Amino acid sequence: MIPLEVLETARKELTDWRSSGMSVLEVSHRGKDFVECAAEAEAAFRRVLGVPDNYKVLFLQGGASAQFEFIPMNLAAPCDTAAYINTGQWSKKAIAAAKRQGLESIIVADEAASSYTTVPAAGSFEVPADAKYLHYTPNETIGGVEFGYVPQTSVPLVADFSSTIASRPIDVSKFGVIYAGAQKNLGPAGLTVVVVRDDLLGTARPETPAVFNWKTQAEADSMLNTPPTFGIYLLGLILRWIEETGGLTAMADRNLAKANALYKAIDSSDFYSNPVAADARSWMNIPFILADSSLDQLFLSEAKEAGLVNLKGHRSVGGMRASIYNAMPIAGVECLIDFMNDFEKEHA
Ligand code: PMP
Repeated sequence: MIPLEVLETARKELTDWRSSGMSVLEVSHRGKDFVECAAEAEAAFRRVLGVPDNYKVLFLQGGASAQFEFIPMNLAAPCDTAAYINTGQWSKKAIAAAKRQGLESIIVADEAASSYTTVPAAGSFEVPADAKYLHYTPNETIGGVEFGYVPQTSVPLVADFSSTIASRPIDVSKFGVIYAGAQKNLGPAGLTVVVVRDDLLGTARPETPAVFNWKTQAEADSMLNTPPTFGIYLLGLILRWIEETGGLTAMADRNLAKANALYKAIDSSDFYSNPVAADARSWMNIPFILADSSLDQLFLSEAKEAGLVNLKGHRSVGGMRASIYNAMPIAGVECLIDFMNDFEKEHA
């Protein structure tokens, strides 16, 4: 979801943006208005996330998947070592990309034994001192597994925040690189945000494409080529909405209340279940299964009739998944819980 207020502002401004007589979709990215809009979005991102001055914020394209490849290219030479934590499907994709880019990727923790329903305990794994970085996925979108802590390591920490960015406050200074596709909590698809500490710029392999070379893009204020202008504009509106609704602390309170309510409903029923360990449960993506999977289709169709959509679990795992990103109001979660209770009464 994108906050309704944000969509309404975008609709209002769509045909006449900043009294230009033009749409933000039509103006030049090099024009004064858009350059200002991008600078405001960056400043808002820095304020909301608390990004220290020694970090660059880049607005790129290609999604988090492109960064899977460009993290190794920007940070390591072929045959260098990098460490990865494997907590599920998105970690695995990042690991596969590192291998494609020639890295010796050492898996320092792998949650296969729990079928990826856990995160490694803090301090339970060791990162080789010669690793160029440690990569992890703070929130596994498909498995619904989220770290409740930030791993401590002496090498730069690289984190795929795609599905949890801006859901709660974080201490950016603990990270070397934070990256996220915008399409969950920050805006529309097509914008990728990369936050990188200054000392990690300038180590890209010479063959790194210029538009994915963090240093080159940082020097060009992310405008080496045409940036995803509409995404940057909408990001600015969404960040303003976050600020107006109390910033990340208030966002975290709302997100925790939403997640707790849904987990409580699932746990107090024999009809629904969620397999994830209590200390690794995601605030954003809550998978659950029905005790009788032959009712899955009926659940989805009745849910749709009740106005509850996008509940089908990822095709690789089946069951259901409620993605309750920032813009999902508590009332939406309550509505889902009511529906689940009614469905259980009728069909259990
Ligand atoms: N990482 C995570 C954690 C994700 O949830 C996703 C998308 N669902 C991706 C990476 C891939 O992002 P993109 O589609 O922007 O490449």
